[in-house]
Amino acid sequence: MVITENDLWEALGTITDPEIPVLSLVEMKVIRSVSVGDDRAHVVISPTFVGCPAMDMMKSEIRNKLALFGINQISIETTFSPPWSTDMLSRETREKLRLFGIAPPPHRGQSLQEDLAQPVRCPFCSSEETILESPFGATLCRQLYFCETCQQSFERFKPL
Ligand SMILES: [Zn+2]
Repeated sequence: MVITENDLWEALGTITDPEIPVLSLVEMKVIRSVSVGDDRAHVVISPTFVGCPAMDMMKSEIRNKLALFGINQISIETTFSPPWSTDMLSRETREKLRLFGIAPPPHRGQSLQEDLAQPVRCPFCSSEETILESPFGATLCRQLYFCETCQQSFERFKPL
């Protein structure tokens, strides 16, 4: 049996983000590239947020998935260049985040001030009458907001 890179992408696409179970590490763009050959596989990953503590767990899940193919030498390289950015998330991925109840990150503007000035839309009722409740949500990657229209708290994925 010849194992192709597509086979590996498919298998890795079943590993979900530990914090966002509706999205895979492939959709989150945590897994950057995959190569395979001669009983070896090489995976390049980039951490989403510095301080997100789940990288070791993700690495062992990647190893476990690739081990199922009988690949003996698995190397995982971590890269910070180009740095991971919420701008890498596709429109589809953002929509899945929203349906999960997390306001997706905005596309980044010219400056941080501009990003912060963008209204945050409630994922439940789409109202822009929202206020920042806490700069930190359940994880470092998220912020807690409150919607004044539907009176619900929600989390927003921080732009990065
Ligand atoms: Zn709302």
